[in-house]
Amino acid sequence: MQALVKKYPKPGLWLDEVPVPEVGINDVLIKVHKTAVCGTDLHIWDWNDWARKTIPVPMVVGHEFVGRVAAMGSNVADLNIGDIVSGEGHIVCGRCRNCLAGRRHLCKDTNGVGVNRAGAFAEYICIPVTNVWHADPTIPMEILGIFDPFGNATHTTLAFPILGEDVLITGAGPIGIMATAIARHAGARYIVVTDLNQYRLDLAKKMGATVALNVREGTLAQVRQQLGMKEGFDVGLEMSGNGDAFKEMLANMCHGGKIAMLGLPSGDLAVDWNQVIFNMLTIKGIYGREMYETWYLMQSLIKIGLDLTPVITHRMHYTEFEEAFRVMSTGNAGKVMLNWVE
Ligand code: NAD
Ligand code: ZN
Repeated sequence: MQALVKKYPKPGLWLDEVPVPEVGINDVLIKVHKTAVCGTDLHIWDWNDWARKTIPVPMVVGHEFVGRVAAMGSNVADLNIGDIVSGEGHIVCGRCRNCLAGRRHLCKDTNGVGVNRAGAFAEYICIPVTNVWHADPTIPMEILGIFDPFGNATHTTLAFPILGEDVLITGAGPIGIMATAIARHAGARYIVVTDLNQYRLDLAKKMGATVALNVREGTLAQVRQQLGMKEGFDVGLEMSGNGDAFKEMLANMCHGGKIAMLGLPSGDLAVDWNQVIFNMLTIKGIYGREMYETWYLMQSLIKIGLDLTPVITHRMHYTEFEEAFRVMSTGNAGKVMLNWVE
């Protein structure tokens, strides 16, 4: 089969011929229909420090996908050939304390699809049945194809109550944009989104932001004044990984404010802890999706009318992957989808 492979320890990806994965007794082989490019895939392409330390070469990359069941191991009973499925990209150990307690998103030994084991940018992917999301077939395939990052957005946005609350989202990447739509759908009052990229800020505005602030052109203090917000934001969703954005967030939270942190900082981050202590802020780290509460929530959100279609800005054939990665790296894109059938 064809696959996008990190074949050599240097920048780039290579379209290569690799064997179809073998199906173990607890596994499901999935014919991949659509995939989406994630920031992680860009890091792997660029071969940054993290990728160099993490990715064994050669590796089939990619983890955002939707497809149809093509084959099953002998222990798999509740699926049929042709069923539409997506997949949870975190493969947990099943044996640690958290796994045994059913808190699988807190597993201490998580393996990543397309990071530590063969991924989804391929004609077929094989994962354990416990990682297969048996999708509602009335949901559009391309939306199911972005359930992984949609799950990051859902997990973060709904980490704290937001009904009627004022929400600050720093970073209007694809996840920040989806978080905006979720927060709007879930009944937040003001949603202020910050970024430096106007293309993405325009998308955030379209998805329900009250104000989409270009931090090169204005400050959160000005926005708060304009909105008549005297006491700061109730909930902060950090989705940029940028230290300046986080500092701005800390400085603009209300006393007792809650922050959910998804963005991955590239290094150490200096924080004014006095703001955290005297303002009694709560900061919660978010990794991946809850297995599988987040997946149920995502499916429900789509079924009750959340429309994420505008976040998908580019659709290409997988053989055009170089263009897909180029577009992603310009930043002037939401989600970029690759088609694997037709
Ligand atoms: P992305 O890189 O596409 O988006 C980040 C956005 O932040 C960009 O649009 C960038 O312009 C913006 N930004 C940079 N500096 C800023 C500043 N000073 N103020 C405001 N915005 C600024 O990433 P994404 O795919 O949307 O993901 C969001 C973040 O979540 C990334 O940091 C990513 O690494 C991280 N992530 C974490 C998990 C997890 O499980 N914790 C999973 C997926 C992604
Ligand atoms: Zn575990």
